[in-house]
Amino acid sequence: MSTPSRRALLAGAATLSATAALAQDQTRQPVEGKRGASILGPRNPEREAQNPNLLRPPTTDHGTIPNLRFAFADTHMKIREGGWSREVTQRELPISTTMAGVNMRLTAGGVRELHWHKQAEWSFMLAGAARITAVDNDGHNFIADVGPGDLWYFPAGIPHSIQGLSPEGCEFLLAFPDGTFSEDNTFDLTDLFAHTPKDALAKNFNISQSALDPVPNKDRFIFQADPPPPLRADVVGDPQGRVAQEMVFRLMQQPAQEARGGRVRIADTRNFPIATEVAAALVEVDPGHMREIHWHPLADEWQFYLSGRARMSVFGAAETARTFDFQAGDVGYVPKPMSHFIENTGDEPLRFLELFNAPRFEDVSLAQWMALTPLELVSAHLNLAQSVLAALPREKTPVV
Ligand code: MN
Ligand code: MN
Repeated sequence: MSTPSRRALLAGAATLSATAALAQDQTRQPVEGKRGASILGPRNPEREAQNPNLLRPPTTDHGTIPNLRFAFADTHMKIREGGWSREVTQRELPISTTMAGVNMRLTAGGVRELHWHKQAEWSFMLAGAARITAVDNDGHNFIADVGPGDLWYFPAGIPHSIQGLSPEGCEFLLAFPDGTFSEDNTFDLTDLFAHTPKDALAKNFNISQSALDPVPNKDRFIFQADPPPPLRADVVGDPQGRVAQEMVFRLMQQPAQEARGGRVRIADTRNFPIATEVAAALVEVDPGHMREIHWHPLADEWQFYLSGRARMSVFGAAETARTFDFQAGDVGYVPKPMSHFIENTGDEPLRFLELFNAPRFEDVSLAQWMALTPLELVSAHLNLAQSVLAALPREKTPVV
């Protein structure tokens, strides 16, 4: 048996003292007064620190609510020359049957190649700038540049591309109204060429087979190209004319709906008519405030956290409720019509997207419902003073 090295002994001592410190920190133990007990077995302190409401749930949590959170940090990175992508779908988060999301980065000149898919595509630009192109089924084309806070929407089956612009390229969130979507299962231009007989391609384009020699023999997905010229120089004249409906919506250029302690911007078919299958709200909650208790009658909610820290409690009827912690880069999910609130638990503004597989954003406010119902009736349920009920807001207050 070998003698342990001095270094190994020191490392062991350091681990022991860290564990001892952790054991003494009662806020990091499933202990509340006389209830619970300290953890004696293996621990993942980093994970536990991110999940204070899983380690020590509010006493109102009860019963079986399935997992409603998945972090993009826990997904597989698909790395290519020209960028990367990662996804949170029903495979990662089984409850998310109605929506799937992809986080993608493209370098300056990096191309998400010309492709289409069965589902519509909704996107929010996180950083940088990109050029997008599409051609619809009537032969109308669309070529535009997008920057931070801009949205785009491509209807199902419409072919499109995305290319990062100088200097730093871009990063964006894609959302698809189908939990089974995957970036690994799209119809890519290079894949089509690689799997169509050369003589059929030559006949289709009325060219010689030898003209096809330089065509790649496999799918490219994301690849590095030269950054495109300025938009004006990239225009393609279209005898059919431009698409009938705008595919880009400048969300951050819209005035926000201001509330006490935050603000909301909504994009749905009322102001972004093409987006018939994805409705969105960008919510900002200042420190100390929360997105009010509410629910959605039309569709499940798929969330993407842009900045800050939060906790969300979801009430699922029949004595069930569960609380989750979130931080930037996390995905959350709320099945309809479960009630929920989202509280800013950090000291910086909380920003997140609420997305719905629906043509319109719709929510029901608990406070407004109670305010617009006869006081005596509500009071008979809750024994609340009528003065408390009389002060409830009759208008919706998305952030409180
Ligand atoms: Mn796409
Ligand atoms: Mn909601």
